[in-house]
Amino acid sequence: MVIPEEIPNLVDGRAVPAASGQSIEKLRPTDETLLCRAARSGAEDVAAAVSAARAAQPAWAERTAVERGDIVRELALLLREMRDELSAVVAEEMGKPLELAQGETDAAVEMGLFVAGEGRRSYGRTMTASMPHRTVLTMRQPLGVAALIMSFNTPLPNIAWKVFPAIFCGNATVAKPSEHTPASAWLFGELAREAGVPDGVLNVIHGFGPEAGAPLVEHPDVDLISFTGSATTGRWINETAGRRLAKVCLELGGKNALVVCDDADIDAAVRWSLASAFSNAGQRCASASRLVVFDGVYDAFREQLLAGVQGLEPQPVISRESMDRISDAVQRAAGEGATVLSGGERLDRPGWYFPPTVVENAASDAEISRTELFGPLTALFRVGDLEEAISLVNGSAYGLTAAIHTASVHRAMHFAERVQAGVVVVNAGTHGSEPHMGFGGVKESGTGWREAGVEALDVYSDLKVVNLVVDPLSA
Ligand code: NAD
Repeated sequence: MVIPEEIPNLVDGRAVPAASGQSIEKLRPTDETLLCRAARSGAEDVAAAVSAARAAQPAWAERTAVERGDIVRELALLLREMRDELSAVVAEEMGKPLELAQGETDAAVEMGLFVAGEGRRSYGRTMTASMPHRTVLTMRQPLGVAALIMSFNTPLPNIAWKVFPAIFCGNATVAKPSEHTPASAWLFGELAREAGVPDGVLNVIHGFGPEAGAPLVEHPDVDLISFTGSATTGRWINETAGRRLAKVCLELGGKNALVVCDDADIDAAVRWSLASAFSNAGQRCASASRLVVFDGVYDAFREQLLAGVQGLEPQPVISRESMDRISDAVQRAAGEGATVLSGGERLDRPGWYFPPTVVENAASDAEISRTELFGPLTALFRVGDLEEAISLVNGSAYGLTAAIHTASVHRAMHFAERVQAGVVVVNAGTHGSEPHMGFGGVKESGTGWREAGVEALDVYSDLKVVNLVVDPLSA
């Protein structure tokens, strides 16, 4: 697949440059060479996309749920057919291994197939009523125009998790992918056209957050904003869209902890910790950036973990700013008394390579213990027992995922009940999700919505309660 030199926006089914004529340079994370340019959009481009979406939405909503599901399925099957090409594009724009990108393409396909099935399975409820001869039932209705704004880390699942349920529910959409991953979003838009998604139902606007994302959030004709990204941006979106009472779904960051008890299988705990902390260069909302280990097994765990880190192949992070931010945070932590056990300094080679880094002895309220760095970095904490572990885990402002390694079902269930998180895992990694499982967090990790699963339908539709009162004498 050849990535075009200039990636255009997709507005009303047409490929168009930004109104300003300007573009953004997208560099490869592996060597900082130019991959492509993407439209540098602003308020004018956003207005055109929102207007196209508004115009297209009523006819799209008139199609039956089965028909919309069928088109979603066509798109999912096309993504599957284009698996190699899509994965290669993702690997190149992210600088990640091809196998990782292939797994992500598969996840995007599975999301489409799951949502497509809702066409024939999107059930409502019927209810009893106190009034005689009254039947009450629920039906879903679309919201209208949905703005979909996302992060770069797994660009295809990120766009798939939002576009599939949003259009299935009868909305028209304006997607704003990350400025770091324009190529996969462009290809997704092209394939959507080919699959029969009508013009205007999916529009894609490229550009920087404050220039292209902010006008979308502020646009009075946008009914729903579904956002995946940092808590800082999410907070601004919630405040801004909240002023006009628009619906807002936020999927934000995490400072996820993996707890290792003294009865854990240490080999497995180390294996899962390495995968949880360092896969995708730690650029996962669910990454384990805190490893909370019982005193009795701390030394053995640390030794095996550090041996495992030596065997990892460094992957680049998404940008120079990201690399510098992580590096600065490690330096500050070291200045405050934390010990850097491995990594800690950028690699001396082209590209944005920061090695897998492990620190210990950071205070639980230190910046590195509290702040999400979204990179290949994890901090070790020593605890005496499960209560201390739970209190440390819950000490975070975030609450996305949490994992525990233990042989005891009592400890596992106690942890699951007490930990403040949207997803809990026993004896594995701080995972993401699967298409049929609701995913999201508590506290500053989100606003309570769940993406994926049938729960996603609640984000992208409104519930209508219909009362049917009949007169038996007229029967
Ligand atoms: P970010 O907040 O910088 O950007 C996310 C998106 O928002 C990008 O498309 C960006 O251009 C846009 N944006 C930035 N400023 C904006 C503004 N003022 N108005 C509108 N849009 C704006 O986040 P990021 O660095 O791309 O992603 C990393 C974050 O995403 C981490 O916090 C990570 O945990 C989170 N994340 C969460 C999930 C989840 O499901 N909870 C999944 C993936 C990533």
